[in-house]
Amino acid sequence: MALDECTPYPADDDYTRRSMELTTRWAARCKAAHRREDQALFGIVQGGMNLDLRERSARQIVDIGFDGYAIGGLSVGEGKDLMWKVAAHTLPLLPEDRPRYIMGIGTPEDLLEAIRLGADMFDCVMPTRNARNGHVFTSAGKLAIKNARYKDDAAPLDEECDCYTCANFSRAYLRHLFMAGEILAHRLLTTHNLRYYTRLVEEARKAIEAGDYLSYTTRRLEALNALQDKE
Ligand SMILES: [Zn+2]
Repeated sequence: MALDECTPYPADDDYTRRSMELTTRWAARCKAAHRREDQALFGIVQGGMNLDLRERSARQIVDIGFDGYAIGGLSVGEGKDLMWKVAAHTLPLLPEDRPRYIMGIGTPEDLLEAIRLGADMFDCVMPTRNARNGHVFTSAGKLAIKNARYKDDAAPLDEECDCYTCANFSRAYLRHLFMAGEILAHRLLTTHNLRYYTRLVEEARKAIEAGDYLSYTTRRLEALNALQDKE
């Protein structure tokens, strides 16, 4: 990734413009300095929540020319409606034949929506941070492992999952580890949540290839909402 400034939220138009121009200057210097042919270089579009600045930033970054393109400065406290408005406006300005990456999202629901809008790549603390807090994503919904209902539950976290944790450990044992403050619980739940995310996008890719993405999304969203354990 070229160095950028992740414009804070909120920021006024003047600050947002100067921040975006700084990111463009850094992008040009980064491209000029880039030597390694084994390393893909991504430029980052900024511009805050201002759609005109987003357009100018996208045009400038695409003109410099990168192997892939990222949209930065989203998921910084602006709320979902504004985030999707900016993402939907910006994604079509980036070349379809290059990876398009929305930085800093998100929930499984966010990934499904971003993919629908044309995004290819993501990064987020959510699968690992949620796992450390005992929050597990499954094909049947969201599960809080400390919930007493899992005390004697011999089932794996997710019947449909092929991860190491689901192949070897029951919900009851994982809950025991978690309640005991055993760090192995964090590792095993993290292993599962990461596999949940990679399966989510593997299946999304298959659904797109099959021309069936919207019904895939609908099924996944229904499943995510089927179980919603509270703390
Ligand atoms: Zn699993």
